This record gives sequence, C-alpha cells and structure tokens, in this order.
Amino acid sequence: MSRSEELFARARAVSPGGVHSPVRAFRSVGGTPRFMTGGRGARLTDVDGREYADYCMAFGPLILGHQDPLVHAAVLTALQRGWSLGTAEPYSLELAEFITRRIPWVQSIRFVNSGTEAVMSALRVARGATGRARILKFDGCYHGHTDSMLLRAGSGLADAAVPDSAGLAPQVIGETLIGQLDDLPALEALFARHGGEIAAAIIEPLPANYGLLPQRHEFLAALARLTRAAGALLIFDEVISGFRVGFQGYAALSGIEPDLVTYGKVIGGGFPVGAYGGRRDLMELVAPAGPVYQAGTLSANPVAMCAGLAMLQRLEDGGVYARLDALGARLETAVARIPHLAVQRVGSVFWFCLTASGRPALPIRRTAAAPADAGANYARIYHPLLESGIYLAPSAWEVGFLSAAHSETDIDILADALGNAVRSALPDG
Ligand code: PMP
Repeated sequence: MSRSEELFARARAVSPGGVHSPVRAFRSVGGTPRFMTGGRGARLTDVDGREYADYCMAFGPLILGHQDPLVHAAVLTALQRGWSLGTAEPYSLELAEFITRRIPWVQSIRFVNSGTEAVMSALRVARGATGRARILKFDGCYHGHTDSMLLRAGSGLADAAVPDSAGLAPQVIGETLIGQLDDLPALEALFARHGGEIAAAIIEPLPANYGLLPQRHEFLAALARLTRAAGALLIFDEVISGFRVGFQGYAALSGIEPDLVTYGKVIGGGFPVGAYGGRRDLMELVAPAGPVYQAGTLSANPVAMCAGLAMLQRLEDGGVYARLDALGARLETAVARIPHLAVQRVGSVFWFCLTASGRPALPIRRTAAAPADAGANYARIYHPLLESGIYLAPSAWEVGFLSAAHSETDIDILADALGNAVRSALPDG
C-alpha cells in the first residue's frame, strides 16, 4: 500500500469521499488520488517522494508556478504584520486601485473569499439593480456552487449521471434559464420569450469547465446586445480567464465590456480570494453604500491581498503572457502529431480531447459536440501519464494550465509522454 492509499483510506473515514472538493477524489479517472506534500516551480511532490510536472496548477491560480519568489516574499512580509485584521486596511485598497486603474470596466471592486462568493454576490447585485429574479446561464458553464448555478454546470458535474445537485429548492431552480453555447437562434428565441424577466445573463466568456469551448465573437456580441436590449445585465465570469488569458481577461480579447465581472484564482496569487466588480452605479448598490447586503469575516485578508498584488504586478507588463502563449503553441504543435488527440487552447489554458475513432473535429464550441467517449479515453491515459510523472487535472472536463515556471523541455516531455500513453491506450491509431 502506498502512503497515498493509506492516507486516502483515513481521509474517507473523516471527510465525504476523502476530499474537500469533489474532482480531487479521482472519481473520473479511477484509482487513488496522490496526496501531495508541496510544490515548487512547475513541480509537485507526493507523500511517497515522487515528483510530477504539474499541469493542473491548483486549477488555475498559480500562473507563475508554485512558490513564485515575488509572491512568496510578499506573503512573508504580510505575515509579519498580522494575518487577519477585520478592519479597514491599506492592502485591499492597493489591490483595488491597481485593478481599477488598469481595467476600465471595473470601476469599483469588492473582494470576497472564492469564485462562488463572487458569483453569488454579483447575481444579487443584478437582482437588486433590475428588480427581476431570473438569471440566464449556459449549458456547461460552471459558476461555483451557489444553488441557482448548479444546473448544467460542467466541472465536477460534467460527467455526473444526474447533472444537478440534490438539495436545491424547486423555486431556486425555476429562477435559472439555460441557454446553449454557440446557438444564436435559440438565444434569440429565449430572449424573445423571457427577456423581460431576466436580471442578468452570466457566461464564462471563455467557457473552461466542460473542456475548453471558445465562443465565436458574434455569439458573445449578440449575447451582449440581446441582454442590454432586454434591460438585463451582462456578467462575465472570469474566475478562470481573468488575469490568465491576458491581464484584462477575456473581456479585452473579445472587445466586449461586461456590466459586472467576477474574478477568482489568479487574483489571489493562490490564496483564497474572489472578487466582483464593474460599473460604479451597480457596485454602489452594495452595502454599506447601498441596499444589497454582502459581507465577510475574512474578506480582503491582508496576506491574500498582498499575494494577489505581487502576482498582478508581475503580470502587468505582458511578458509573462507572451511566454505562456509560446509554450502553449509549442504544446499544440507537438500534440498535433498524436493520433486520436485534439487540443483546444487559448494562451496558457488547454484542453485535450481524445476520441477512439479518428480525431475530433475542431473547434468544439458546444457541450453536445464534445465526443461522448472523451471522458473514458482520458481515464485510460491518465494513470500511465501519472506513472511517468505528469500530473494533469483528474477529469477529462477540466482544462489544463501552463505556468511561467514550465520550460520548453517540460512541454516536449509532456508531448512525448502523451504520445506514448495515447498509442498504448488506443493502439489502432
Ligand atoms: N466560476 C468559474 C468560471 C470557475 O471556474 C470556478 C471554479 N473553478 C468558480 C466560478 C468557482 O470558484 P471557487 O471554486 O473559487 O468557488
């Protein structure tokens, strides 16, 4: 029995499924999750002393790699001053100014502790602003685990037999309308029918929780137009894409400015931070400035604020994004030679899609277009890759992340290992 197996047996006795977030349990790929003791640069180390090249990167926050020296130094300095104040303090102010000066559509911002909280709060603002109840979300987009967003949600629910969660009140489910990505006629019909009831449309402008499903510009532009014509708000959930595909996120890449935006992951440098922000008039509705209540004991934790600021300062000049894009292009080129495997990529976010018959036709933009056997095939290559020292997200529907700590050699090793794993799992190719 490995140390990981021992620990997993103990963990299952004291926590549901042995984990504190479902995908970590390896249910999609089978086997026992590796218990990791730590990470440095592009590497993770497990309790048995094995090293892995990490392409999960804590599901996105660690764009500079584990223990980036600048973030590390900022955290140590912050710790020495005191790690929880519960008062007004200058650290969140610095981060808020840094962001609002660089992202024009974020005129005002509120820090919370997770992406889920950010979304939950942004939806409340939208309802408060419009006096309407219903929210439009898209099939396959994940917006955290607030009740109304747990429908057709992707991520850890992408391959669930029953895609929704138990424990949701029917009236909460009834508030959510589901749209289909990349289906403009259906979207127009939905707005024609329900436009006047919708408080907000929320979308991951770069959907990254059912694999990576990049949208056509026209679709996002039409969504913005229909939403505004209906008197509803447009919320971009940039928890993954914010500060990841470029400093200003996917909004800048698409040229579409949302009314509200949600952030998480990179914004906290790897510490528990989320944020929502946007138009000043909307954010002024939030307590204590306005009537929409939202609060948090640990919100704007000073250590997390300083980690986030150090991270964003490092990202600001754009050099990191250029390097990440070059690494991503190298991966894409190397993987193009592997049978059965397709990769969809935007910058440092990538998705491997593996199908037994031929190669998936790209681009894939809708959940229904993802090959039905992609999950099972991913499971077949997952453990051989793990054995060869490659740590990918333990689900076919989670995207992979590159970091500035990865090297060209890492990418070449990954491509070789993928080629070997695919050829032995699907030998007819
Ligand atoms: N929105 C998106 C787009 C996400 O990918 C996630 C998490 N992966 C969330 C919201 C929720 O964030 P958290 O897990 O920090 O609550």
